Amino acid sequence: MNLFKSIQLTCCAILLILASCNTKKSTQTKSSDTRPNILVVLCDDLGYSDVGFNGAKDITTPALDKLANDGTIFTSAYVTHPFCGPSRASLMTGRYPHQMGAQFNLPPNCETIGKGISVDETFISKVLQDNGYYTGALGKWHLGSVSKYHPNNRGFDDFYGFLGGGHEYFPEIYRKKFEKRKKAGDNVIFEYLHPLEHNGEDVKETEYITDALSREAVRFVSEASEKEKPFFLYLAYNAPHVPLQAKEEDLAKFAHIKDEKRRTYAAMVYAVDRGVNKVVKSLKENKQFENTLIVFLSDNGGKLTKGATNYPLREGKGSACEGGYRVPMFFHWPKNVPSGQRFNQPVSSVDFYPTFAKLAGATIPAGKVLDGKNMWDNFQNGKGSHTGEYIYCLRHRTGYTDVGARRDSMKVLRVNQESWKLINLDKDINEQHDLSAKYPDLLKEMVADAEKWSQTHAQPLWWHDEQTGVEWKEYKMPRFDETFKLD
Ligand code: CA
Repeated sequence: MNLFKSIQLTCCAILLILASCNTKKSTQTKSSDTRPNILVVLCDDLGYSDVGFNGAKDITTPALDKLANDGTIFTSAYVTHPFCGPSRASLMTGRYPHQMGAQFNLPPNCETIGKGISVDETFISKVLQDNGYYTGALGKWHLGSVSKYHPNNRGFDDFYGFLGGGHEYFPEIYRKKFEKRKKAGDNVIFEYLHPLEHNGEDVKETEYITDALSREAVRFVSEASEKEKPFFLYLAYNAPHVPLQAKEEDLAKFAHIKDEKRRTYAAMVYAVDRGVNKVVKSLKENKQFENTLIVFLSDNGGKLTKGATNYPLREGKGSACEGGYRVPMFFHWPKNVPSGQRFNQPVSSVDFYPTFAKLAGATIPAGKVLDGKNMWDNFQNGKGSHTGEYIYCLRHRTGYTDVGARRDSMKVLRVNQESWKLINLDKDINEQHDLSAKYPDLLKEMVADAEKWSQTHAQPLWWHDEQTGVEWKEYKMPRFDETFKLD
């Protein structure tokens, strides 16, 4: 080959490489990247019927109702656990918390025990980040506080919020309490009083927390819109979780509610709605609204002693009855999510991981264990993704375990060491009528299936307090042989 030809070939090769680089770059620009933004708005302990779109009469949620009614409302949406930490662990990992040893909440100030959701579990945020998404988490984390479990090390480019399981709402009050404890020389100050942080740095927040998180969501949307990438935003409000603390302007809207707890709770829910309205405005202003899937839900049922209602569901937060883990939920995405629809078949938050990955065209790491499945295609065709399969709820108590296992319309339920019951949820949403005497074989089959599932569980890696850990060992938990025994 002569020199001229060789130079010509080299030039061609360089041009080809440049061309391929250009193509690669152009597929990543926002204008040509048609992948949707994904915005998850998670509330904390919000009751099933404490939003207008699920029938609330005394609480008004106009912004949420507008989105819900323009999108699809899920009437049988489940989370994987009836309280915070385990439910959130599932959202991030696509697994039932019981199989990761995460079936209890991390204790307050969990940095002192240095635990969190195993780093062997790749979070959905990391999958999306690795596949070209700009990612943000705002608000409550509750999945581990030391560095390796920090949101910035779990796939979130941007984090603004607090790492623990809750927070007080008024900075002028919690800051004083924090400073007082600090002056008193406390080594460990209750996490609800800590300064909020932005990517690991303490910030001096000045706004009511719900407003602060909404403000940060608006900032994130605006910043993300400048990037040549779609975004994933996990907006995890701690409202209306306790402490019940609301702004005067919001309380004034609910003067008609006589019960003080309910009034405060209502005002806290309304503050979320005000925030969501701002976020929607920001999406529209930044021309992102049409291409954003908005997923709204609660991490577990409402707490009945703290102002919430889950009517017509039975019981609330912490329970294996429907009120514990069937939550308000909707999807909104113009032209992609049917408008004005109520979707009645059971769906589960454990499906979000593979569903989001699919929508993002993202590759899930080889070997990643998932308990859910991509629900998108079935959903588009009006079908459930769990026909003939189980949706579980299992919560350990002191010395025994509560279990609910739903398959299609039927559910087996055991709570408070009472006998197993068989419920037809289509006809009996309030779980009042036990059909086990009528269908003993079905009861037996479903309880046996739930027992098989329980055999996949790991021992808890932590408990929400020391006492619970001591009792777990004293009672030789989980004692599943007793749990799944039929009388
Ligand atoms: Ca919660």
